[in-house]
Order: sequence, then structure tokens, then C-alpha cells
Amino acid sequence: LLSVKDLRIAFGDVQAVHGLSFDIHRGETLALVGESGSGKSATALSILRLIEREGGRINGGTIRLGTEDPVEITTLPPADLRALRGDRIAMVFQEPMTSLNPVMRIGRQMTETLRLHRGLSGGAARAAALAALDRVRIPEPARRLDQYPHELSGGLRQRVMIAMALACEPEVLIADEPTTALDVTTQAEILTLLRDLQRDMGMAVLFITHDLGVVAEIADRVVVMQDGRKVEEGHTGALFATPRHPYTRELVAASP
Ligand code: ATP
Ligand code: MG
Repeated sequence: LLSVKDLRIAFGDVQAVHGLSFDIHRGETLALVGESGSGKSATALSILRLIEREGGRINGGTIRLGTEDPVEITTLPPADLRALRGDRIAMVFQEPMTSLNPVMRIGRQMTETLRLHRGLSGGAARAAALAALDRVRIPEPARRLDQYPHELSGGLRQRVMIAMALACEPEVLIADEPTTALDVTTQAEILTLLRDLQRDMGMAVLFITHDLGVVAEIADRVVVMQDGRKVEEGHTGALFATPRHPYTRELVAASP
């Protein structure tokens, strides 16, 4: 469904990702694992063509979305990016406050997203927003519509972000360390939620984390990165049972 081939990403004259390749199939959860600075977020931002905004650029390789007649993301004209982001690929970040507007009520942000991507307005947009909040099991969804992001706990804000990301029923959901900023109990709740939603909705998930414990919970397959390169790839069970690369062995040995 999503095919990354020989992807190279640079920030100025620093090469951050050196020829990364992996595929995500329909309905599967692929974990992208690696230590800080290994190029996970740069890869995610490139898939959404948000990397230029962060001061980076794609300087090699291809990113194709779709099975028949795939779209080549690396060369997509700017006018087509809105249809890509949100509609076909959605992203949830580590800290929801970076993507939520602090001075706009939750309901307004959600209906705005639904208007842009699904052409819904008025009562239909409000109903879809409520349904989306309901799907992520937010208590008292109607009350949330009138609240501002800072009035919600971190866990609820992350649920709102997930609701917004999934409201347009994307084919791929990218989650970049979505639970890192949360306490352990809330982390577990969000992971369970993501796993259930993935099963119900059948989208492909690219789950980025440095935490192998999380990988065991959620991923079908794992790609391990080190210094901008893939060092190992495999099914989750096999990777935990027989890690081959020294770095993967180290990770597995260090995880409880
Ligand atoms: P983390 O686990 O800390 O989120 P990561 O694997 O997501 O790490 P990236 O953020 O993709 O790592 O960074 C990959 C490399 O690119 C790092 O060496 C980093 O210093 C560099 N880099 C990332 N963003 C920028 C930027 N805006 N400007 C310059 N260099 C950057
Ligand atoms: Mg990152």
C-alpha cells in the first residue's frame, strides 16, 4: 500500500536518512524503531511531504502510495498535497498541542477539518465530529466540542487528535511516538485504542517509537533504524525471538 524505496533525506548538507526502504501493506501495523536522531520523524514527515517545512529535503528515492496506479509522493505537485494529507494519510504527533490550535474550540477544529477534507458543514459536520469523538471513547463528547485544548488532559487531547486523524478514514495512519508524553496508564489506554481502531477500520499504521515494549503490543512487523539506515526488519515475534543485528540484540536485551 505504501512503498518507500531508497529514501534519502538531508537537512542542509547533513544526510539524515541514507537509502531507507520498506513497505506497509493494507491492514498491517509496521513499527519504525530506533534511537533518538536515527531519522524516524524525518521519514514520517517525508511521507506527508512536510519535511520541507522542517527545513529538510528529500534528495533521493521514491515513496509510492496505492497498489494499482500508485501516486508518487516525492514529486506530487503542491496543489495535490491537501488531498494526500488528511484524506489518504493522517498523522498523530507526540505532543498534540503542536497540531491543535490553542485558541479554537475542539468542535470548531473538528468541523473545519471535516469541511476541508470531506465537504461536510453544519449539522452533518457536527454529527461526524461527535461520531469521531465517540469512536475514540471520549466521555461526554458533546461537552468536548465546546472546550479548548488546554481544558483537556494529555490523554484526552491525544484521543481528540486520533479522532481528527481518523475522521477522514485515511488509508494510512502515521503515529509518531503518540504515547511518549503520557503517563503509563494512559499510554496503555491509547495503545489499546489504536489497536482496536486499526482492527475495526482496517487502515495501515506506521507506528514510530523507541520503546520495544510498545512494539510487542501493537506491531505486526518491525523495521529497526540506526543512524538513518535500516539495520533489521522482520515479523515482531521473530525479531524478539532471534534478533540478528547487534543493535537489535541490544534493544531486545534492554527491554523488559
Ligand atoms: P527522536 O527519537 O528523537 O524523535 P528521530 O529518529 O525521530 O529521533 P529525526 O528527528 O528524524 O530523528 O532526526 C534525524 C536526524 O536529522 C538527526 O540527526 C537530527 O539531528 C536531524 N534533524 C532533524 N530535524 C532537523 C532540523 N529541523 N534541522 C536540522 N537537522 C535536523
Ligand atoms: Mg522523532
